[in-house]
Amino acid sequence: MTKKRIFSGMQPSGKFHMGNFQVLNNWVKLQHEYDCIYSIVDWHALTSSYEDTRLLPERIECMALDWLSAGLDPEKNIIFVQSHVKEHAELHLLLSMMTPLSWLERVPTYKDKLQQLGDMGKEINTYGFLGYPELQTADIILYKANAVPVAEDQLPHLELAREIVRRFANLYKPVFPEPQPILSPLLPGIDGRKMSKSYGNEIPYAAEPDELQAKVRQMLTDPQRVKKTDPGNPEICTVYTFHKIFSPDYEEIAGQCRNAGIGCVECKKRLAAKMTTTLADVHGRRKELAGNPAKIKEILVYGAERARKLAAATMAEVRAVMNLD
Ligand code: SF4
Repeated sequence: MTKKRIFSGMQPSGKFHMGNFQVLNNWVKLQHEYDCIYSIVDWHALTSSYEDTRLLPERIECMALDWLSAGLDPEKNIIFVQSHVKEHAELHLLLSMMTPLSWLERVPTYKDKLQQLGDMGKEINTYGFLGYPELQTADIILYKANAVPVAEDQLPHLELAREIVRRFANLYKPVFPEPQPILSPLLPGIDGRKMSKSYGNEIPYAAEPDELQAKVRQMLTDPQRVKKTDPGNPEICTVYTFHKIFSPDYEEIAGQCRNAGIGCVECKKRLAAKMTTTLADVHGRRKELAGNPAKIKEILVYGAERARKLAAATMAEVRAVMNLD
């Protein structure tokens, strides 16, 4: 049976944290079930950081290293850089002709981010920034992806992609499947909010054991649990959300928390130890790979070749139904 295809991408912003690592962990799991296409979306990075592109090549290489050291298999998956496959730009352009402006303006994250970045002094009222979800749609449907792993706050982007797919089918002919979401859990920041450098609540991916322990110590726990003898509720505890990812015995920890069999200090120590072990393995593999930049380049060239073949086939169909061939 042919596997379903998924597409996902990440911006090479140079701010890789444990929240991104969790997204990667999901991707690593998905690679066994799906035909996966993963892209370092460098054009997307330009939509909000176009002024200075000098660090972009280094950030792309860093991201490829992060992905490979986390366990993404370049044979099983197609791993490539978005700008190496020009068909993304062509499809983006064609979709932009038929997408009403109001569809883009009503994406909830657009106004929020516009405000947030504007407050940071960025001149972001640009055509490219508004068209970000349009480019995302082009990325996904160029490969006829059936599904996209997304966090809940990205669902409106995927809904827009589906609307664009339907509009394309009505105007011309059905070429693309409507991509469905695969909801992926996100790791919160140490204060329980979404992990983000702008909130200052992130745990850096490259954190050394001391920094990691300090961050875990600051994590929010069940606020009702004042004394060690009070039974806790792990479901509202940030530490427990991390245990579910890093500790194979997380169910036992939940039981101990509910029975007041473990204190929060000890629970945090256990988490820090588990995270340190997991990260030590990944960091070790990363160091090894970093010594071979030619290999990274080779993997990205190979990925782009494979992506380009699929993209070219889709674009031939698109041009045909739009009478552009
Ligand atoms: Fe959270 Fe652990 Fe404390 Fe329970 S024991 S509230 S899971 S830190």
